[in-house]
Amino acid sequence: MEFKPANNIQDLQYFGEFGGVNPSVSDSSTYTFLSAKTMFDTFEGNTDGCYLYSRHSSPSNLYLGEALAAMEGTETANVTASGMGAITPTILQICGAGDHIVSSRTIYGGTYAFLKNFTPRMNIQTSFVDITKLDVVERAINSNTKMIYCESVSNPLLEVADIKGLAELAKKHNLKLVVDNTFSPLSISPAQLGADVVIHSLTKFINGSSDTMGGVVCGTSDFVNTQKSVIDGASMLLGASMDSMRSASILKNMRTLHIRIKQHSKNALYLAERFEKDGLKTVYPGLESHPSYKIFKEMMNMEYGFGGMLTVDAGSLEKANQLMELMQGRNIGYLAVSLGFYKTLFSAPGTSTSSEIPLDEQKEMGLTDGLIRFSIGLDDDIERTYEMIRECMLEVGVL
Ligand SMILES: *Cc1c(COP(=O)(O)O)cnc(C)c1O
Repeated sequence: MEFKPANNIQDLQYFGEFGGVNPSVSDSSTYTFLSAKTMFDTFEGNTDGCYLYSRHSSPSNLYLGEALAAMEGTETANVTASGMGAITPTILQICGAGDHIVSSRTIYGGTYAFLKNFTPRMNIQTSFVDITKLDVVERAINSNTKMIYCESVSNPLLEVADIKGLAELAKKHNLKLVVDNTFSPLSISPAQLGADVVIHSLTKFINGSSDTMGGVVCGTSDFVNTQKSVIDGASMLLGASMDSMRSASILKNMRTLHIRIKQHSKNALYLAERFEKDGLKTVYPGLESHPSYKIFKEMMNMEYGFGGMLTVDAGSLEKANQLMELMQGRNIGYLAVSLGFYKTLFSAPGTSTSSEIPLDEQKEMGLTDGLIRFSIGLDDDIERTYEMIRECMLEVGVL
């Protein structure tokens, strides 16, 4: 049967303490026990439904985790204080000293910096490869490799990972495939394609209102519980736990995710097609000119489209900056990093979100100076938006 992530979210039902239509928020960091024996058993992990301390879990965090697990179709999920708070404990849970990771070379700047600069201190080495070439990925695997790491749709170049192909490789070599699905919630369901662990920064599309940080790790109960272990769980011990107030508010925003994603995708496709027709170098996975258009189409849950992210090359950093300032001046959107907001957001990744990546490596992966990354907003009248952007492009000489 076809996988329907939004139905899975909608079919969950929680009531508040007094019959409220929203679950009560657990406004407590610690929980009382009726007997000392129950407290001991809870520490040992033997008492389902008992809460101990909110760094470990809280009712509100479990509700949000359940909704995200339903969306990805995994057994369970653990929510965290940020996307990086989900990524770093996952890497450290799977890998220890002497281990090796094969990672896509086009990934979120923070993840890249963690793998490139931080984990080598623990003698964890990473090979960065072109993830779209399965033979290159396989050649990078050695006897110490524990994990393949990628993003479904990569930041900022919008390369698309062949998750089925990577999952087969992971299985063959007994590795874990970890996929960051932040750019394509609902559109792509990596666990359904064979990924072992699916991560999101909730800060972006899933929460969608740019008012909070958040992250999630979706996977098997085995894996997620290992991360939450009071004895040696990386998530529990590193402490990037989400606050219950925040998880309650993210859960409420998640209910409109399907409507928002459809609108983001519709608007982004419209603009990408117009920009491309205007002769601009435009990258969007929904354009037939995109090298991974076919793979995205094979993997996607059709109704949610190709997502809200696109890039346009303005030719030079100077032109990119002029264009972004002008677009902000005319209230088309904001010159800001991040994504998934109701307004369009734009930034030049080479000098911002991907500035952790050395210049020569940026060049090699095709990250040009003039590249502008757009997170397309929920604009009701996207034709008008296009006309306004076109006007700006003509004025700064990008068109
Ligand atoms: C933003 C982002 C992250 C990091 O998430 P935070 O919530 O900022 O910690 C990780 N991966 C991708 C693809 C992102 O866009």
